[in-house]
Amino acid sequence: GIAEMTVTQSETLATLHRVFGYDAFRGEQEAVIEHVVAGGDAVVLMPTGGGKSLCYQIPSLVRPGTGIVVSPLIALMQDQVDALRALGVRAGFINSTQDFDERRVVEAEFLAGELDLLYLAPERLRVDATLELLSRGKIALFAIDEAHCVSQWGHDFRPDYLALSLLGERWPDVPRIALTATATHATHREITERLNMPAARHFVASFDRPNIQYRIVPKADPKKQLLSFLREEHAGDAGIVYCLSRNSVEKTAEFLTRNGIEAVPYHAGLDAGTRAAHQSRFLREDGLVVVATIAFGMGIDKPDVRFVAHLDLPKSVEGYYQETGRAGRDGLPSTAWMAYGLNDVIQQRKLIQSGEGDEAFQRRAAAHLDSMLALCETAQCRRGQLLAYFGQDPDAAGCGNCDTCLVPPETWDGTIAAQKVLSTVVRLQRERGQKFGAVQIVDILLGKRTGKVIQFDHDQLSVFGIGQELTEGEWRGVVRQLLAQGLLAVEGEYGTLVLTDASGAVLRREREVPLRKEPKRPASRSASSGS
Ligand code: ADP
Ligand code: ZN
Repeated sequence: GIAEMTVTQSETLATLHRVFGYDAFRGEQEAVIEHVVAGGDAVVLMPTGGGKSLCYQIPSLVRPGTGIVVSPLIALMQDQVDALRALGVRAGFINSTQDFDERRVVEAEFLAGELDLLYLAPERLRVDATLELLSRGKIALFAIDEAHCVSQWGHDFRPDYLALSLLGERWPDVPRIALTATATHATHREITERLNMPAARHFVASFDRPNIQYRIVPKADPKKQLLSFLREEHAGDAGIVYCLSRNSVEKTAEFLTRNGIEAVPYHAGLDAGTRAAHQSRFLREDGLVVVATIAFGMGIDKPDVRFVAHLDLPKSVEGYYQETGRAGRDGLPSTAWMAYGLNDVIQQRKLIQSGEGDEAFQRRAAAHLDSMLALCETAQCRRGQLLAYFGQDPDAAGCGNCDTCLVPPETWDGTIAAQKVLSTVVRLQRERGQKFGAVQIVDILLGKRTGKVIQFDHDQLSVFGIGQELTEGEWRGVVRQLLAQGLLAVEGEYGTLVLTDASGAVLRREREVPLRKEPKRPASRSASSGS
Protein backbone atom coordinates (compact mmCIF):
# COMPACT_ATOMS: atom_id res chain seq x y z
CA GLY A 1 0.00 0.00 0.00
CA ILE A 2 0.91 3.67 -0.04
CA ALA A 3 2.03 3.73 3.58
CA GLU A 4 4.38 0.81 2.94
CA MET A 5 5.80 2.51 -0.11
CA THR A 6 6.54 5.64 1.88
CA VAL A 7 8.40 3.64 4.48
CA THR A 8 10.58 2.06 1.79
CA GLN A 9 11.15 5.37 0.08
CA SER A 10 12.25 7.14 3.21
CA GLU A 11 14.43 4.22 4.21
CA THR A 12 16.26 4.06 0.88
CA LEU A 13 16.68 7.81 0.78
CA ALA A 14 17.91 7.83 4.37
CA THR A 15 20.47 5.16 3.43
CA LEU A 16 21.60 7.26 0.45
CA HIS A 17 22.19 10.25 2.76
CA ARG A 18 23.58 8.46 5.76
CA VAL A 19 25.85 5.84 4.16
CA PHE A 20 26.82 7.37 0.83
CA GLY A 21 26.47 11.05 1.64
CA TYR A 22 24.52 11.94 -1.54
CA ASP A 23 21.55 14.30 -1.69
CA ALA A 24 19.35 12.70 -4.28
CA PHE A 25 18.99 9.70 -6.53
CA ARG A 26 19.95 9.98 -10.14
CA GLY A 27 17.79 9.01 -13.09
CA GLU A 28 16.32 5.54 -12.73
CA GLN A 29 18.12 4.67 -9.49
CA GLU A 30 15.17 5.29 -7.22
CA ALA A 31 12.73 3.25 -9.31
CA VAL A 32 15.17 0.35 -9.59
CA ILE A 33 15.96 0.36 -5.88
CA GLU A 34 12.33 0.41 -4.81
CA HIS A 35 11.49 -2.43 -7.15
CA VAL A 36 14.32 -4.63 -5.86
CA VAL A 37 13.75 -3.75 -2.22
CA ALA A 38 10.18 -4.92 -2.73
CA GLY A 39 11.51 -8.26 -3.97
CA GLY A 40 11.22 -7.83 -7.74
CA ASP A 41 13.70 -8.93 -10.42
CA ALA A 42 15.27 -6.19 -12.52
CA VAL A 43 17.33 -5.88 -15.68
CA VAL A 44 19.15 -2.55 -15.62
CA LEU A 45 20.79 -0.96 -18.64
CA MET A 46 22.68 2.13 -17.68
CA PRO A 47 25.71 3.72 -19.28
CA THR A 48 29.08 3.63 -17.57
CA GLY A 49 29.12 6.16 -14.78
CA GLY A 50 25.34 6.13 -14.57
CA GLY A 51 25.41 4.88 -10.99
CA LYS A 52 24.63 1.17 -11.27
CA SER A 53 26.35 0.17 -8.02
CA LEU A 54 23.88 1.93 -5.75
CA CYS A 55 21.05 0.04 -7.47
CA TYR A 56 22.12 -3.14 -5.68
CA GLN A 57 24.11 -1.72 -2.77
CA ILE A 58 21.20 0.13 -1.20
CA PRO A 59 18.73 -2.78 -1.51
CA SER A 60 21.38 -5.01 0.04
CA LEU A 61 21.56 -2.67 3.00
CA VAL A 62 17.82 -2.25 3.33
CA ARG A 63 16.76 -5.88 2.88
CA PRO A 64 17.56 -8.48 5.53
CA GLY A 65 20.51 -10.73 4.68
CA THR A 66 23.57 -10.33 2.45
CA GLY A 67 23.58 -9.01 -1.10
CA ILE A 68 25.57 -11.42 -3.30
CA VAL A 69 27.33 -9.53 -6.10
CA VAL A 70 28.59 -11.59 -9.05
CA SER A 71 31.32 -9.70 -10.86
CA PRO A 72 34.06 -10.78 -13.30
CA LEU A 73 36.32 -7.95 -12.18
CA ILE A 74 38.37 -9.86 -9.63
CA ALA A 75 41.18 -7.32 -9.69
CA LEU A 76 38.82 -4.61 -8.48
CA MET A 77 37.09 -6.49 -5.68
CA GLN A 78 39.59 -5.54 -3.02
CA ASP A 79 39.25 -1.84 -3.91
CA GLN A 80 35.48 -2.00 -4.04
CA VAL A 81 35.30 -3.72 -0.69
CA ASP A 82 37.80 -1.30 0.87
CA ALA A 83 35.80 1.67 -0.41
CA LEU A 84 32.58 0.23 1.04
CA ARG A 85 34.20 -0.55 4.37
CA ALA A 86 35.44 3.02 4.56
CA LEU A 87 31.77 4.04 4.40
CA GLY A 88 30.91 1.66 7.20
CA VAL A 89 29.33 -0.97 4.95
CA ARG A 90 30.09 -4.55 5.98
CA ALA A 91 31.47 -5.93 2.73
CA GLY A 92 33.66 -8.87 1.78
CA PHE A 93 34.71 -10.91 -1.22
CA ILE A 94 35.64 -14.45 -2.13
CA ASN A 95 37.92 -15.02 -5.09
CA SER A 96 41.06 -16.82 -6.23
CA THR A 97 43.45 -14.15 -4.95
CA GLN A 98 42.71 -15.10 -1.34
CA ASP A 99 44.37 -17.75 0.76
CA PHE A 100 42.38 -20.32 2.67
CA ASP A 101 42.35 -18.45 5.98
CA GLU A 102 41.16 -15.17 4.47
CA ARG A 103 38.35 -16.98 2.76
CA ARG A 104 37.32 -18.75 5.94
CA VAL A 105 36.99 -15.45 7.78
CA VAL A 106 34.67 -14.07 5.08
CA GLU A 107 32.62 -17.27 5.03
CA ALA A 108 32.17 -17.12 8.78
CA GLU A 109 31.08 -13.48 8.60
CA PHE A 110 28.53 -14.36 5.94
CA LEU A 111 27.10 -17.27 7.93
CA ALA A 112 26.89 -15.13 11.06
CA GLY A 113 24.83 -12.56 9.15
CA GLU A 114 27.59 -9.97 9.53
CA LEU A 115 27.91 -9.02 5.85
CA ASP A 116 25.81 -6.53 3.90
CA LEU A 117 27.55 -7.34 0.63
CA LEU A 118 29.55 -10.31 -0.60
CA TYR A 119 31.37 -10.10 -3.95
CA LEU A 120 31.94 -13.35 -5.85
CA ALA A 121 33.64 -14.21 -9.13
CA PRO A 122 31.25 -16.07 -11.48
CA GLU A 123 33.39 -19.22 -11.55
CA ARG A 124 32.80 -19.59 -7.80
CA LEU A 125 29.16 -20.37 -8.47
CA ARG A 126 30.08 -23.49 -10.41
CA VAL A 127 31.66 -24.86 -7.25
CA ASP A 128 29.27 -26.92 -5.12
CA ALA A 129 30.94 -25.75 -1.93
CA THR A 130 30.00 -22.15 -2.75
CA LEU A 131 26.37 -23.01 -3.44
CA GLU A 132 26.33 -25.01 -0.24
CA LEU A 133 27.75 -22.06 1.67
CA LEU A 134 25.19 -19.67 0.20
CA SER A 135 22.30 -21.93 1.10
CA ARG A 136 23.38 -21.89 4.73
CA GLY A 137 23.22 -18.09 5.03
CA LYS A 138 20.57 -15.46 4.42
CA ILE A 139 20.60 -13.78 1.03
CA ALA A 140 19.12 -10.33 0.43
CA LEU A 141 19.50 -10.39 -3.36
CA PHE A 142 21.71 -11.50 -6.23
CA ALA A 143 23.31 -8.75 -8.30
CA ILE A 144 24.77 -9.87 -11.61
CA ASP A 145 27.16 -7.16 -12.71
CA GLU A 146 28.49 -6.87 -16.28
CA ALA A 147 25.52 -9.02 -17.26
CA HIS A 148 26.34 -8.73 -20.98
CA CYS A 149 29.08 -11.32 -20.31
CA VAL A 150 26.30 -13.94 -20.57
CA SER A 151 25.73 -13.07 -24.21
CA GLN A 152 27.50 -15.23 -26.74
CA TRP A 153 26.80 -12.56 -29.34
CA GLY A 154 28.35 -9.90 -27.21
CA HIS A 155 31.96 -8.81 -27.29
CA ASP A 156 32.82 -10.04 -23.82
CA PHE A 157 31.34 -13.52 -23.47
CA ARG A 158 32.26 -15.51 -20.36
CA PRO A 159 31.08 -19.13 -20.21
CA ASP A 160 30.90 -19.04 -16.40
CA TYR A 161 27.99 -16.63 -16.69
CA LEU A 162 25.81 -19.30 -18.29
CA ALA A 163 25.69 -21.13 -14.96
CA LEU A 164 24.02 -18.11 -13.34
CA SER A 165 20.63 -19.19 -14.66
CA LEU A 166 20.51 -21.71 -11.81
CA LEU A 167 20.30 -18.95 -9.20
CA GLY A 168 16.65 -18.36 -9.96
CA GLU A 169 15.85 -22.07 -9.75
CA ARG A 170 17.67 -22.59 -6.53
CA TRP A 171 16.57 -19.37 -4.80
CA PRO A 172 13.20 -18.55 -6.36
CA ASP A 173 12.32 -16.09 -3.60
CA VAL A 174 15.49 -14.03 -3.76
CA PRO A 175 15.31 -11.02 -6.09
CA ARG A 176 17.87 -10.80 -8.86
CA ILE A 177 19.17 -7.68 -10.52
CA ALA A 178 21.23 -7.90 -13.72
CA LEU A 179 23.21 -4.81 -14.69
CA THR A 180 25.15 -3.78 -17.75
CA ALA A 181 26.40 -0.71 -19.56
CA THR A 182 26.39 -2.52 -22.86
CA ALA A 183 23.27 -3.64 -24.53
CA THR A 184 21.89 -3.70 -27.97
CA HIS A 185 18.38 -5.08 -28.32
CA ALA A 186 19.82 -8.51 -29.06
CA THR A 187 22.07 -8.56 -26.01
CA HIS A 188 19.28 -7.26 -23.84
CA ARG A 189 17.03 -10.11 -24.93
CA GLU A 190 19.78 -12.63 -24.45
CA ILE A 191 20.49 -11.46 -20.90
CA THR A 192 16.83 -11.89 -19.99
CA GLU A 193 16.62 -15.33 -21.58
CA ARG A 194 19.90 -16.81 -20.44
CA LEU A 195 19.63 -15.57 -16.89
CA ASN A 196 16.09 -16.87 -16.95
CA MET A 197 14.44 -13.67 -15.76
CA PRO A 198 11.18 -13.54 -17.72
CA ALA A 199 9.34 -11.65 -14.99
CA ALA A 200 12.02 -9.01 -14.52
CA ARG A 201 11.17 -5.36 -14.89
CA HIS A 202 13.40 -3.55 -17.34
CA PHE A 203 14.99 -0.24 -16.62
CA VAL A 204 16.68 1.35 -19.59
CA ALA A 205 18.46 4.60 -18.95
CA SER A 206 19.41 6.89 -21.78
CA PHE A 207 22.75 5.98 -23.26
CA ASP A 208 23.43 9.51 -24.29
CA ARG A 209 26.47 11.11 -22.72
CA PRO A 210 25.84 14.69 -23.85
CA ASN A 211 29.01 16.07 -22.29
CA ILE A 212 31.24 13.81 -24.38
CA GLN A 213 32.25 15.21 -27.74
CA TYR A 214 32.84 12.43 -30.27
CA ARG A 215 35.51 12.95 -32.92
CA ILE A 216 37.13 10.58 -35.39
CA VAL A 217 39.96 11.89 -37.54
CA PRO A 218 41.84 10.30 -40.43
CA LYS A 219 45.07 8.75 -39.26
CA ALA A 220 48.23 10.25 -40.71
CA ASP A 221 50.97 10.42 -38.09
CA PRO A 222 48.99 9.25 -35.07
CA LYS A 223 51.44 10.03 -32.28
CA LYS A 224 51.93 13.58 -33.53
CA GLN A 225 48.21 14.04 -34.07
CA LEU A 226 47.63 12.88 -30.52
CA LEU A 227 50.25 15.28 -29.22
CA SER A 228 48.68 18.28 -30.95
CA PHE A 229 45.26 17.24 -29.70
CA LEU A 230 46.54 17.04 -26.13
CA ARG A 231 48.53 20.27 -26.30
CA GLU A 232 45.77 22.29 -27.90
CA GLU A 233 42.76 20.99 -26.02
CA HIS A 234 43.77 19.00 -22.99
CA ALA A 235 47.00 20.38 -21.57
CA GLY A 236 47.31 19.25 -17.96
CA ASP A 237 44.21 17.06 -18.13
CA ALA A 238 43.86 13.46 -17.01
CA GLY A 239 42.98 11.03 -19.76
CA ILE A 240 43.33 7.58 -21.25
CA VAL A 241 44.99 6.70 -24.56
CA TYR A 242 44.08 3.27 -25.92
CA CYS A 243 46.40 1.32 -28.24
CA LEU A 244 46.02 -2.20 -29.55
CA SER A 245 49.45 -3.63 -28.78
CA ARG A 246 51.72 -3.57 -25.76
CA ASN A 247 54.51 -2.34 -27.96
CA SER A 248 52.61 0.71 -29.15
CA VAL A 249 51.46 1.39 -25.59
CA GLU A 250 55.12 1.56 -24.49
CA LYS A 251 56.22 3.65 -27.46
CA THR A 252 53.36 6.11 -27.15
CA ALA A 253 53.87 6.60 -23.41
CA GLU A 254 57.58 7.26 -24.03
CA PHE A 255 56.79 9.65 -26.85
CA LEU A 256 54.37 11.69 -24.75
CA THR A 257 56.77 11.82 -21.81
CA ARG A 258 59.59 12.97 -24.09
CA ASN A 259 57.31 15.73 -25.31
CA GLY A 260 56.50 17.04 -21.88
CA ILE A 261 53.25 15.20 -21.17
CA GLU A 262 53.29 13.02 -18.10
CA ALA A 263 52.24 9.56 -19.22
CA VAL A 264 52.55 6.01 -17.90
CA PRO A 265 51.97 2.70 -19.70
CA TYR A 266 49.48 0.03 -18.63
CA HIS A 267 49.15 -3.42 -20.18
CA ALA A 268 48.98 -7.07 -19.20
CA GLY A 269 52.70 -7.56 -19.90
CA LEU A 270 53.71 -5.33 -17.00
CA ASP A 271 54.11 -6.92 -13.60
CA ALA A 272 51.22 -6.60 -11.19
CA GLY A 273 53.09 -4.14 -8.94
CA THR A 274 53.80 -1.69 -11.76
CA ARG A 275 50.24 -1.95 -13.02
CA ALA A 276 48.79 -1.28 -9.57
CA ALA A 277 51.19 1.64 -9.06
CA HIS A 278 50.27 3.25 -12.38
CA GLN A 279 46.57 2.74 -11.75
CA SER A 280 46.69 4.29 -8.32
CA ARG A 281 48.76 7.23 -9.59
CA PHE A 282 46.09 7.81 -12.22
CA LEU A 283 43.35 7.79 -9.59
CA ARG A 284 45.27 9.99 -7.13
CA GLU A 285 47.12 12.53 -9.25
CA ASP A 286 45.77 15.34 -11.37
CA GLY A 287 46.54 15.41 -15.04
CA LEU A 288 48.22 12.04 -15.53
CA VAL A 289 47.80 10.30 -18.89
CA VAL A 290 47.59 6.50 -18.96
CA VAL A 291 48.47 4.84 -22.25
CA ALA A 292 46.87 1.43 -22.15
CA THR A 293 45.55 -1.62 -23.86
CA ILE A 294 41.89 -2.34 -23.19
CA ALA A 295 43.05 -4.23 -20.08
CA PHE A 296 42.82 -0.84 -18.37
CA GLY A 297 39.71 0.91 -17.22
CA MET A 298 37.07 -1.70 -16.41
CA GLY A 299 35.41 -0.50 -13.26
CA ILE A 300 37.80 2.39 -12.74
CA ASP A 301 35.88 5.21 -11.19
CA LYS A 302 37.67 8.49 -11.79
CA PRO A 303 35.17 11.28 -12.33
CA ASP A 304 37.45 13.82 -14.02
CA VAL A 305 38.87 11.87 -16.96
CA ARG A 306 38.77 14.68 -19.54
CA PHE A 307 39.54 12.67 -22.67
CA VAL A 308 39.72 9.17 -24.03
CA ALA A 309 41.83 8.80 -27.17
CA HIS A 310 42.00 5.78 -29.45
CA LEU A 311 45.07 5.32 -31.63
CA ASP A 312 43.71 2.03 -32.94
CA LEU A 313 40.26 0.98 -33.97
CA PRO A 314 38.16 -0.75 -31.28
CA LYS A 315 36.74 -4.13 -32.31
CA SER A 316 33.12 -3.17 -31.75
CA VAL A 317 30.80 -0.25 -31.10
CA GLU A 318 30.12 -1.72 -27.66
CA GLY A 319 33.82 -1.59 -26.88
CA TYR A 320 34.15 1.93 -28.24
CA TYR A 321 31.17 3.13 -26.22
CA GLN A 322 32.41 1.49 -23.05
CA GLU A 323 35.94 2.84 -23.41
CA THR A 324 34.90 6.38 -24.36
CA GLY A 325 32.34 6.27 -21.54
CA ARG A 326 35.17 6.48 -19.04
CA ALA A 327 35.50 10.15 -19.93
CA GLY A 328 33.50 12.83 -18.17
CA ARG A 329 31.70 10.92 -15.46
CA ASP A 330 31.47 14.21 -13.57
CA GLY A 331 29.30 15.59 -16.35
CA LEU A 332 31.82 18.23 -17.47
CA PRO A 333 32.85 18.64 -21.12
CA SER A 334 35.12 15.83 -22.29
CA THR A 335 36.40 14.51 -25.58
CA ALA A 336 36.36 11.08 -27.19
CA TRP A 337 38.99 11.34 -29.90
CA MET A 338 40.11 8.66 -32.32
CA ALA A 339 42.55 8.46 -35.21
CA TYR A 340 41.52 5.87 -37.75
CA GLY A 341 42.99 4.80 -41.08
CA LEU A 342 43.15 2.23 -43.83
CA ASN A 343 45.63 0.02 -41.99
CA ASP A 344 43.24 -0.30 -39.07
CA VAL A 345 40.63 -1.82 -41.34
CA ILE A 346 43.06 -4.21 -43.00
CA GLN A 347 44.69 -5.22 -39.73
CA GLN A 348 41.40 -5.92 -37.96
CA ARG A 349 40.03 -7.90 -40.88
CA LYS A 350 43.22 -9.97 -40.97
CA LEU A 351 43.04 -10.53 -37.22
CA ILE A 352 39.52 -11.88 -37.51
CA GLN A 353 40.41 -14.25 -40.33
CA SER A 354 43.59 -15.60 -38.81
CA GLY A 355 42.18 -15.57 -35.28
CA GLU A 356 40.73 -18.40 -33.28
CA GLY A 357 37.11 -19.33 -33.24
CA ASP A 358 34.78 -21.17 -35.57
CA GLU A 359 33.07 -19.72 -38.57
CA ALA A 360 30.13 -18.37 -36.56
CA PHE A 361 32.54 -16.60 -34.22
CA GLN A 362 34.36 -14.99 -37.15
CA ARG A 363 31.11 -13.88 -38.75
CA ARG A 364 30.11 -12.28 -35.48
CA ALA A 365 33.45 -10.52 -35.11
CA ALA A 366 33.13 -9.28 -38.69
CA ALA A 367 29.64 -7.92 -38.02
CA HIS A 368 30.91 -6.11 -34.93
CA LEU A 369 33.74 -4.61 -36.94
CA ASP A 370 31.37 -3.54 -39.73
CA SER A 371 29.24 -1.56 -37.27
CA MET A 372 32.36 0.10 -35.91
CA LEU A 373 33.49 1.01 -39.44
CA ALA A 374 30.07 2.41 -40.26
CA LEU A 375 30.41 4.70 -37.25
CA CYS A 376 33.84 5.82 -38.45
CA GLU A 377 32.72 6.51 -42.01
CA THR A 378 29.36 8.08 -41.35
CA ALA A 379 28.62 11.54 -42.64
CA GLN A 380 25.74 11.78 -40.15
CA CYS A 381 25.75 12.68 -36.46
CA ARG A 382 28.02 10.23 -34.61
CA ARG A 383 26.01 10.41 -31.41
CA GLY A 384 22.86 9.69 -33.40
CA GLN A 385 24.50 6.62 -34.90
CA LEU A 386 25.69 5.43 -31.48
CA LEU A 387 22.25 5.84 -29.92
CA ALA A 388 20.56 4.12 -32.84
CA TYR A 389 23.00 1.23 -32.44
CA PHE A 390 21.81 0.80 -28.86
CA GLY A 391 18.21 0.94 -30.00
CA GLN A 392 17.55 4.46 -28.73
CA ASP A 393 16.04 7.35 -30.60
CA PRO A 394 18.52 9.98 -31.62
CA ASP A 395 17.79 13.65 -32.10
CA ALA A 396 16.94 13.96 -35.78
CA ALA A 397 18.49 17.41 -35.96
CA GLY A 398 21.90 16.11 -34.85
CA CYS A 399 23.57 16.59 -31.48
CA GLY A 400 25.70 19.64 -32.16
CA ASN A 401 28.53 18.09 -30.15
CA CYS A 402 30.31 15.68 -32.49
CA ASP A 403 32.69 16.33 -35.37
CA THR A 404 30.16 15.62 -38.11
CA CYS A 405 27.64 18.01 -36.54
CA LEU A 406 30.25 20.69 -35.90
CA VAL A 407 31.86 20.45 -39.34
CA PRO A 408 29.53 18.53 -41.65
CA PRO A 409 31.69 16.41 -43.94
CA GLU A 410 31.33 16.93 -47.65
CA THR A 411 30.48 13.95 -49.77
CA TRP A 412 31.35 13.40 -53.39
CA ASP A 413 30.37 10.99 -56.13
CA GLY A 414 33.11 8.39 -55.85
CA THR A 415 31.64 6.00 -58.43
CA ILE A 416 34.42 6.48 -61.00
CA ALA A 417 37.16 6.35 -58.37
CA ALA A 418 35.62 3.16 -57.00
CA GLN A 419 35.53 1.64 -60.48
CA LYS A 420 39.20 2.45 -60.96
CA VAL A 421 40.14 0.74 -57.71
CA LEU A 422 37.95 -2.29 -58.37
CA SER A 423 39.21 -2.66 -61.97
CA THR A 424 42.77 -2.67 -60.70
CA VAL A 425 41.88 -5.32 -58.13
CA VAL A 426 40.29 -7.43 -60.89
CA ARG A 427 43.45 -7.27 -62.96
CA LEU A 428 45.68 -8.20 -60.05
CA GLN A 429 43.36 -11.03 -59.02
CA ARG A 430 43.99 -12.60 -62.42
CA GLU A 431 47.64 -13.02 -61.55
CA ARG A 432 47.40 -16.43 -60.01
CA GLY A 433 49.29 -16.96 -56.81
CA GLN A 434 50.34 -13.34 -56.48
CA LYS A 435 49.00 -11.36 -53.56
CA PHE A 436 48.78 -7.60 -53.59
CA GLY A 437 47.52 -5.19 -50.97
CA ALA A 438 46.42 -1.60 -50.87
CA VAL A 439 49.89 -0.12 -51.37
CA GLN A 440 50.39 -1.78 -54.74
CA ILE A 441 46.90 -0.78 -55.93
CA VAL A 442 47.47 2.86 -55.07
CA ASP A 443 50.97 2.86 -56.62
CA ILE A 444 49.53 1.49 -59.86
CA LEU A 445 46.71 4.05 -59.95
CA LEU A 446 49.17 6.88 -59.36
CA GLY A 447 51.52 5.53 -62.04
CA LYS A 448 54.46 5.04 -59.68
CA ARG A 449 57.26 2.90 -61.05
CA THR A 450 58.28 1.31 -57.77
CA GLY A 451 60.47 -1.79 -57.59
CA LYS A 452 57.46 -3.97 -57.00
CA VAL A 453 55.50 -2.36 -59.84
CA ILE A 454 58.37 -2.98 -62.31
CA GLN A 455 59.00 -6.50 -60.99
CA PHE A 456 55.46 -7.60 -61.83
CA ASP A 457 55.15 -5.53 -65.05
CA HIS A 458 52.30 -3.62 -63.51
CA ASP A 459 53.29 -0.53 -65.49
CA GLN A 460 52.01 -2.47 -68.51
CA LEU A 461 48.47 -2.70 -67.12
CA SER A 462 45.79 -0.55 -68.76
CA VAL A 463 44.96 0.90 -65.34
CA PHE A 464 48.53 2.08 -64.74
CA GLY A 465 48.52 5.80 -64.00
CA ILE A 466 44.78 6.34 -64.48
CA GLY A 467 44.36 7.85 -61.03
CA GLN A 468 46.35 11.07 -61.17
CA GLU A 469 43.36 13.15 -60.08
CA LEU A 470 43.65 12.09 -56.44
CA THR A 471 46.56 12.11 -54.02
CA GLU A 472 47.96 9.02 -52.36
CA GLY A 473 46.15 9.90 -49.13
CA GLU A 474 42.88 10.35 -50.99
CA TRP A 475 43.23 7.00 -52.73
CA ARG A 476 43.88 5.31 -49.41
CA GLY A 477 40.72 7.00 -48.17
CA VAL A 478 38.79 5.60 -51.14
CA VAL A 479 40.09 2.08 -50.50
CA ARG A 480 39.28 2.40 -46.80
CA GLN A 481 35.73 3.51 -47.49
CA LEU A 482 35.22 0.74 -50.05
CA LEU A 483 36.32 -1.76 -47.40
CA ALA A 484 33.98 -0.19 -44.88
CA GLN A 485 31.08 -0.28 -47.35
CA GLY A 486 31.71 -3.94 -48.15
CA LEU A 487 32.65 -3.20 -51.77
CA LEU A 488 36.12 -4.64 -51.19
CA ALA A 489 37.36 -7.35 -48.85
CA VAL A 490 40.63 -8.40 -47.32
CA GLU A 491 41.90 -11.94 -47.62
CA GLY A 492 44.72 -13.89 -46.05
CA GLU A 493 47.60 -12.95 -43.85
CA TYR A 494 49.08 -10.44 -46.31
CA GLY A 495 45.95 -8.32 -46.54
CA THR A 496 45.26 -9.10 -50.19
CA LEU A 497 42.41 -7.00 -51.55
CA VAL A 498 39.65 -8.94 -53.31
CA LEU A 499 36.22 -8.17 -54.76
CA THR A 500 33.00 -8.93 -52.92
CA ASP A 501 29.56 -9.94 -54.17
CA ALA A 502 28.60 -6.29 -54.09
CA SER A 503 31.56 -5.11 -56.22
CA GLY A 504 30.03 -6.25 -59.51
CA ALA A 505 27.21 -3.73 -59.43
CA VAL A 506 29.75 -0.91 -59.18
CA LEU A 507 31.88 -2.27 -62.03
CA ARG A 508 28.77 -2.68 -64.19
CA ARG A 509 27.79 0.92 -63.37
CA GLU A 510 24.59 -0.26 -61.76
CA ARG A 511 25.09 1.69 -58.59
CA GLU A 512 26.71 4.86 -57.37
CA VAL A 513 29.25 5.10 -54.62
CA PRO A 514 28.93 8.19 -52.44
CA LEU A 515 32.14 8.83 -50.51
CA ARG A 516 33.09 11.15 -47.70
CA LYS A 517 35.67 13.77 -48.53
CA GLU A 518 38.86 13.35 -46.59
CA PRO A 519 39.12 16.39 -44.35
CA LYS A 520 42.20 18.46 -45.07
CA ARG A 521 44.96 17.40 -42.79
CA PRO A 522 45.67 20.10 -40.22
CA ALA A 523 48.99 21.83 -40.83
CA SER A 524 51.53 19.70 -39.05
CA ARG A 525 52.78 21.39 -35.96
CA SER A 526 56.23 20.96 -34.61
CA ALA A 527 56.50 17.90 -32.45
CA SER A 528 59.82 16.29 -31.83
CA SER A 529 59.54 12.65 -32.69
CA GLY A 530 62.84 12.19 -30.92
CA SER A 531 64.76 9.08 -31.69
P1 ADP B 1 28.53 2.59 -13.04
O1 ADP B 1 28.77 1.33 -12.25
O2 ADP B 1 27.17 2.68 -13.63
O3 ADP B 1 29.61 2.86 -14.05
P2 ADP B 1 28.97 3.85 -10.52
O4 ADP B 1 28.02 3.07 -9.73
O5 ADP B 1 30.43 3.48 -10.40
O6 ADP B 1 28.58 3.82 -12.05
O7 ADP B 1 28.75 5.38 -10.23
C1 ADP B 1 29.50 6.36 -10.90
C2 ADP B 1 29.81 7.51 -9.98
O8 ADP B 1 28.64 8.24 -9.67
C3 ADP B 1 30.38 7.07 -8.66
O9 ADP B 1 31.39 7.96 -8.29
C4 ADP B 1 29.20 7.16 -7.71
O10 ADP B 1 29.62 7.34 -6.39
C5 ADP B 1 28.48 8.37 -8.27
N1 ADP B 1 27.04 8.35 -7.95
C6 ADP B 1 26.18 7.34 -8.17
N2 ADP B 1 24.95 7.66 -7.80
C7 ADP B 1 24.99 8.92 -7.31
C8 ADP B 1 24.03 9.84 -6.76
N3 ADP B 1 22.73 9.51 -6.64
N4 ADP B 1 24.46 11.05 -6.40
C9 ADP B 1 25.75 11.39 -6.54
N5 ADP B 1 26.71 10.60 -7.03
C10 ADP B 1 26.35 9.37 -7.43
ZN1 ZN C 1 26.29 14.99 -33.63
